[in-house]
Amino acid sequence: MSALQAKDPAVYKILHAEMERQAYGLELIPSENYVSEAVLEAVGSIFTNKYSEGYPRKRYYGGQEFVDQVEELAIERAKKLFNAEHVNVQPYSGSPANTAVFFGLLEYQDTIMGLKLDQGGHITHGLSVSYSGKFHKVAPYFVDKESHRIDMDDVRRIAHEAKPKLIIAGYTAYPRDIDWKTFREIADEVGAIAMADISHIAGLIAGGQLANPFDFGFDVVTTTTHKTLRGPRSAIIMCKEQYAKPIDKAVFPGLQGGPHDHVTAAKAVAFGEALRPEFKEYAAQIIKNAQALGESLSKLGWKLITGGTDNHLLLADMTDVGCTGMEAEESLDKAGITVNKNTVPYDPRKPFDPSGIRFGTPAITTRGLTEEHMEQLAQWMHKAVTNWKDDAVLAGIHEEVKELGKKFPVPGISL
Ligand SMILES: *Cc1c(COP(=O)(O)O)cnc(C)c1O
Repeated sequence: MSALQAKDPAVYKILHAEMERQAYGLELIPSENYVSEAVLEAVGSIFTNKYSEGYPRKRYYGGQEFVDQVEELAIERAKKLFNAEHVNVQPYSGSPANTAVFFGLLEYQDTIMGLKLDQGGHITHGLSVSYSGKFHKVAPYFVDKESHRIDMDDVRRIAHEAKPKLIIAGYTAYPRDIDWKTFREIADEVGAIAMADISHIAGLIAGGQLANPFDFGFDVVTTTTHKTLRGPRSAIIMCKEQYAKPIDKAVFPGLQGGPHDHVTAAKAVAFGEALRPEFKEYAAQIIKNAQALGESLSKLGWKLITGGTDNHLLLADMTDVGCTGMEAEESLDKAGITVNKNTVPYDPRKPFDPSGIRFGTPAITTRGLTEEHMEQLAQWMHKAVTNWKDDAVLAGIHEEVKELGKKFPVPGISL
């Protein structure tokens, strides 16, 4: 019996139910993943007991010799992984990391440019109700009405009109490659800082499958560590040396207090894993699986935004299949397949009840699924959404999903 089971059966019972949900379902939310047992061990480690405000060798508390070692190791590995000049590993998560970049490099009401949220951007890229949109003027850019790809000529036009101080490339729901080179050129033309938010695709970049924005001269790159990068729930900021001081000051003491040292330790572990050759194979397999799943669904009549994917995620407009994004999400949930409802570009429906769903392959690839499983997965998904009112059919699919899930265990879960 575990300590938790013995001391707090109420929390244990909930945790156990979540273990079953993860083990017996298939996770297709493209921002989620399953960390290794080594990462789990570090997150659950005694570094959670420590306070260490400040930076390695410049702390405001005693007893730092081992925290300094683990933070320096995390920094060193991240630098190697992304070819970065400077790395701050202290941000609590992706949103505070982006906020720290703005707080460190911009003045109140400076203009930022990012992809519009309902077309694939992130809340922190200038949504009016977020810090980014309240403290800054925002000049959003858009995807093309027909191709649903980012139109770089339009980005250039908007940048020349709005004269932003900072341009953000990098998205939460965009299935195609990003033209880092042209973004860098446009930023140079208007004197803007070029920032990449690679939260979703960091693992694909680290694994050598997608281009690295630093290779095109980007100034700042932020990323979460818990998506394709397969580390603990957290984030890092990477930048050219010239931006290091204001960004470090913005993280601490600008916005945060003590770093989460147990999570820093887990980030070091995850970066170590991503530096190994196996991670390249993992990253390549994520994309192969996403493309195979996309092809199978297209054959079943699904309308995929941009027609497919270059990365780990797919976006489908469910209108022609015959349900809304919400109905699709709910029916797939009942079938043991987790996705999220999502707006599609120029969606006539509202964000809380949109036309589409977003899904991807990072988590199922971690479990070991390959192209040969994607046809079956597509069949289950199609059966679920075309029978979204029929709970018996959905329960039947869930039984089959569970059988497959049992064959591909989740790291750290033994039932
Ligand atoms: C997930 C994500 C974030 C935010 O990360 P949180 O850890 O949820 O705060 C920021 N930017 C992009 C592009 C993301 O996909």
